[in-house]
Amino acid sequence: MDFALDERAETFRAEVQAFLREHLTDAVRARVAASGTYHDWEFHRAVARRGWIGAGWPAEDGGQGRDRADLDILYEELAAAGAPVEGMAVTLIIAETVRRVGTPEQKERILGPVREGRLLLSLGYTEPDAGSDLASARTRAVRDGDGWRIDGQKNFTTHAHEADYVFLLARTDPQAPKHAGLTMFLVPTSAEGFSLTPVHTLSGERTNLTFYSGVHVGDDARIGDVGQGWPIVSLALAFERGGEFAAQLRRLVHATVTWAHAARRTGDARLLRRLGRVAAATEVARLLGSQATWLRSSAQAGAVEGAMAKVYGTEALLAGSGALLDAAGPDGLLAGPGEPAAELQHLYREAQISTLYGGTSEVLRGVIAERRLGLPRSRRG
Ligand SMILES: Cc1cc2nc3c(=O)[nH]c(=O)nc-3n(C[C@H](O)[C@H](O)[C@H](O)COP(=O)(O)OP(=O)(O)OC[C@H]3O[C@@H](n4cnc5c(N)ncnc54)[C@H](O)[C@@H]3O)c2cc1C
Repeated sequence: MDFALDERAETFRAEVQAFLREHLTDAVRARVAASGTYHDWEFHRAVARRGWIGAGWPAEDGGQGRDRADLDILYEELAAAGAPVEGMAVTLIIAETVRRVGTPEQKERILGPVREGRLLLSLGYTEPDAGSDLASARTRAVRDGDGWRIDGQKNFTTHAHEADYVFLLARTDPQAPKHAGLTMFLVPTSAEGFSLTPVHTLSGERTNLTFYSGVHVGDDARIGDVGQGWPIVSLALAFERGGEFAAQLRRLVHATVTWAHAARRTGDARLLRRLGRVAAATEVARLLGSQATWLRSSAQAGAVEGAMAKVYGTEALLAGSGALLDAAGPDGLLAGPGEPAAELQHLYREAQISTLYGGTSEVLRGVIAERRLGLPRSRRG
């Protein structure tokens, strides 16, 4: 079978690569490294000016109606270059969900500004006692006049310090079975009673704890019906778990080759064997990722395929970055910023948390086992 893309798709790849040469400047990279925030407003707006935020949306939602091949190319090239697009990726997960379940007023208020690169959204699911088991969320939303009063805490609300809203999972009915008592809200980060504190991770990435103390929001902040939080989170999670890790693997191969040239180690047989394995894994991850992207863009949510792509891609990244850092020896461990092995070391540190966020490998294996292989449930839920 020939997996090559056609000439039109490859022309688009060249266009994205040229865009990156122009806009992914040293200054952007330096700002991202200093802040630990994988979002940069200047770069984000440049992507928006090309119409590439929501590029797959149909024309009636203001998108370019781009097909699967174009979206694959766009996200792969942005990620492979190490562009700061995590803020965009998270925003698109939420915007895609609003596009499916939001009211006409919410779509009007959210989708246009997202597309124009003026609005950033963050995910507020995880709590101190509700990570993998999200349905145990305890953050409360209680009717308050014609709106809601929200109290609670979320962990790991990445980009919340730059975002306009948190897409918040809240408990609206503590008496109902746990999956039935949840509702989604878009909570403005400018609201009184909202606060946050930074959390710095091993990779250098910054995330946040967010706190909600008597935050009042109108009923127009509610996304979907009361009690429909769980199906909406499940829909959003299917958009989240995907194939971006093939691009991370590509970055890993590139970083290692760059270092090997600088260190005159291109003839090292042990290194080349390990590099070959990672290059092969990159192709597998890319195909699994393409499958998930295709199912998403054709409106078949693709939750299981996304889980497969994420487990495979992140575990290949974890194993591959470990093997290559080991082959690089002290060069890799001691590399400071700007040194040839710095990127290799950075990817190794990033890989350690990649198997956690967006669903841990153990939990995603459970999803695959139950929904694809038809095995019995591994836990009580
Ligand atoms: C850098 C980073 C950024 C993040 N960004 C966000 C964000 O923006 N928004 C957000 O809401 N969350 C975010 N998260 C949270 C992330 O989604 C959670 O860390 C993840 O879901 C795991 O939850 P937990 O940390 O509470 O671990 P736990 O759920 O407590 O899991 C602990 C361990 O138990 C295992 N385990 C748990 N349940 C099962 C099971 N049923 N079967 C088998 N094993 C199981 C897990 O695999 C894990 O090894 C982020 C996390 C990180 C590290």
